[in-house]
Amino acid sequence: MLSIPASRPNAYTGSPLDRASGRREDTEFIAACAASPEALYVPVWRSRSLMRGVEEGRPEALLLSPAAAEAVRMAGGPWAFLGFWEGRPVFAVDCSAAEDPLPLLPEGFGAFTDLRAVAGLLPAGEASVLAHARGLMHWRVRHRFCGVCGGVCEPRSAGNAMACTACGAQHFPRTDPAVIMLVTDGARALLGHSVRFPNSTMYSTLAGFVEPGESLEEAVRREVAEEVGVAVGEVHYHSSQPWPFPASIMLGFHAEALSDAITIDPEELRDARWFSRDEIRNHERHGFGLPRADSIARRLIEDWLESA
Ligand SMILES: [Zn+2]
Repeated sequence: MLSIPASRPNAYTGSPLDRASGRREDTEFIAACAASPEALYVPVWRSRSLMRGVEEGRPEALLLSPAAAEAVRMAGGPWAFLGFWEGRPVFAVDCSAAEDPLPLLPEGFGAFTDLRAVAGLLPAGEASVLAHARGLMHWRVRHRFCGVCGGVCEPRSAGNAMACTACGAQHFPRTDPAVIMLVTDGARALLGHSVRFPNSTMYSTLAGFVEPGESLEEAVRREVAEEVGVAVGEVHYHSSQPWPFPASIMLGFHAEALSDAITIDPEELRDARWFSRDEIRNHERHGFGLPRADSIARRLIEDWLESA
């Protein structure tokens, strides 16, 4: 089995930001950036992102001035430095304390929307910036207290880390690796119908979280064995996709099946089958759907289809 290269970038990649992580410890510099009239703030309200044009099918991200950000922040939400966008400092700000932040903004200022619903329609790079802000603010609002001693934590590194005021432990944003894999036997690919989408006809790749002490290849083999009872040999990396919903990265693989018989785990899957390339290309005629065009699952399937 040869590895199949990724044919194009995944969704949520291609951030236009220079993260400038070396400047995060310079508190005077960060304070000057935060107060600069050039600064842009990416607001996050209860895990939703501010956009306009959603109903028209042309969503675009809306960023706030320092004054507007301060108004929606309600003097309490966390913030963090994300980097520079064409030279302008960019920050994330959480405005979840506001019951409804829209009246606090200039009129006609869009709406807070679930990024995942429109990511494929956003201009290149914007989905990445919104996902970055959302993931970091999700981590911040859930790490106000120390996991070691229960003490109060304070932000460090311009909001990109937390330190305990009692025991001094440092805490950093988490990114939990998840493996997502297309299992193939060369001529056919194995797709499953998840119990999480009972009303859909979608058949997709298998996926699961990496466990402590496990390599990525071992996680692929274990998940496939657990979900469908198929033995996997070679595992080839394809590409990755940030998935900060709330805190993952999807690591995509093509996996070679060593066995054929499928035994599904009914807690995970309603069904799983082997499909030929022809069946997948003509999936509508065969009565099933595929994952969304902007998903890494779809990319794994399409790049495999093209590899023959
Ligand atoms: Zn502590």
